[in-house]
Formats: sequence, structure tokens, C-alpha cells
Amino acid sequence: MGDKMDCIFCKIVNGEIPSYTLYEDDIVKVFLDVNPDTNGHTLIVPKKHYTDLFDIDDNTLMHIMNTAKKINQLLSDKLHTDGLTLVQNNGLKQEVKHFHLHLKPQYKNEGKLLSVEEIYKKING
Ligand code: AMP
Ligand code: ZN
Repeated sequence: MGDKMDCIFCKIVNGEIPSYTLYEDDIVKVFLDVNPDTNGHTLIVPKKHYTDLFDIDDNTLMHIMNTAKKINQLLSDKLHTDGLTLVQNNGLKQEVKHFHLHLKPQYKNEGKLLSVEEIYKKING
């Protein structure tokens, strides 16, 4: 479904590059960020290549926000999070030029940063 040859997130969507996937449907793929800011740092990525907020269509954007609510419940249940910060970069500070929403869990007591593998096991265990 991805269409940009050198886009790393299109490659993840296509399965050319592996990811720690938490959820997917026809419209989105949701996976753990490889370089997390907090435990459970997750990305929601549309399967179709949109560059940024100014490119994506409203229905897809709404689906992404509804998916964020669903994933928040999962992170809350499995990692006992105390809140969620959403971040979405465009332009200068956007490293990957395929739209993505960052989900960064908040914790009352921030423990040590675990490996992505450990977090994946906690969520799927
Ligand atoms: P941004 O600066 O908003 O474009 O963020 C890009 C994010 O993608 C960063 O947090 C990276 O750690 C993350 N990232 C880059 N490559 C991968 C990958 N192969 N799998 C998961 N996350 C990735
Ligand atoms: Zn892409």
C-alpha cells in the first residue's frame, strides 16, 4: 500500500522492514518507536503515504485519532500509564516524511527506560 520507494515507514507498512507491531487494520499500522522517549512510545502510521498534516485527508486523520484512543487503553492496561502525550511533527523537525502520530505515555513514577523488546513482551504477554 505504501508508494514511496525510499520511505522507511512505507517499507514497514509493506513488511520489508520489521517492526514491533501492536495493532493494524486496513488504514493504519501501529508500532513501537525504535528510539523511545518513554516506555511504550508508539507511532501510528497511515498505510497510505501522506507526507504530513497538510497532506493527509480528514477521514484518515479521524481514524488515526480514534486509534490513539484505542492504543491508550492498551498502554494503560499493560504498562499502567498515567497519561498520554501526543506529538506530530511537520517540516523542519519531522525526520521521517511519512505522516505519523507519536504516542508518548506519561508515568507518575518514571522507571528506567526498558528495551523495546521488553516493552513489546509486556504489552503482548
Ligand atoms: P519524527 O522526528 O517525528 O519524524 O520522528 C520519527 C520517529 O521515527 C523517531 O522517533 C524515530 O525513533 C522513529 N523511527 C525511525 N525509524 C524507525 C523504525 N525503523 N521503526 C520504528 N521507529 C522508527
Ligand atoms: Zn511512506
